Amino acid sequence: MNDTCKLTMLGTGSALVTKCYNTCFTIHTPQTMLLVDAGGGNGILAQLEKAEIKLGDVHHVFITHAHTDHIIGVLWVLRIFIQYALRGMVDSQLHIYGHDKSLLVLRTMIELMLPAKLQKQIGTIVLLHEIKDGDSLSIEDLNLTSFDILSTKEKQFGFLAVLPDGKRLCCLGDEPYNPANEQYAKDADWLLAESFCLYAHRDIFKPYEKSHVTVKDAAEQAEALGVKNLVIYHTEDKNIDRRKELYTAEAKAHYNGNVFVPEDLETIIL
Ligand SMILES: [Zn+2]
Repeated sequence: MNDTCKLTMLGTGSALVTKCYNTCFTIHTPQTMLLVDAGGGNGILAQLEKAEIKLGDVHHVFITHAHTDHIIGVLWVLRIFIQYALRGMVDSQLHIYGHDKSLLVLRTMIELMLPAKLQKQIGTIVLLHEIKDGDSLSIEDLNLTSFDILSTKEKQFGFLAVLPDGKRLCCLGDEPYNPANEQYAKDADWLLAESFCLYAHRDIFKPYEKSHVTVKDAAEQAEALGVKNLVIYHTEDKNIDRRKELYTAEAKAHYNGNVFVPEDLETIIL
């Protein structure tokens, strides 16, 4: 078990969901754990607790973009982390990685919303690292390369994570695959991709108007890219009781690899 890597989905929903949490997840390796986004509020604290992840054990956070459903939870994570550190409950730092816009938003929230005593710990207990398109990060045994997904609505970074065993996990953030990122996504072992809803429900949920796509679209893309495993997230929640079954069936009709439509708190062995 010790050398297994796993993905724990803390949330699987899009921005406006109420029946699950916003999309965010952890990647655990033998040496580290990376939290990717933190959802839209202090629900992140509940999700971490339910997943039995101690907040003080989170030392690395990657922010994809500064939309509310991804970044506000990060404020909660760093706030509680600092409180733990000031009480002597954690002895290492919290590293937060994001592009210039994400860090601008995070710094502004910190400045306007957190008490001075906590603010003072930015730069000591909490370190904010600005990343650029194509930057590589070594996070213990996890190697990450960030890439700009070239969103037309909000600057957003995805990443390619190389796991200790060499497997490649590509996270596209919460927008559809952009061919400019082929070098990262092609032949990946794992592709994490948004699907707002079923293709059959496109007229109800109107994904294309929101810079999102359907399960069928994501599955066809995964097939074209030759990825081995497709994880679908950032969905609507009106069909959540049957989401796994319905979305899996639609994806499998267009993609020959393994399909994962996780529920909140589900763990996938990588
Ligand atoms: Zn989102």
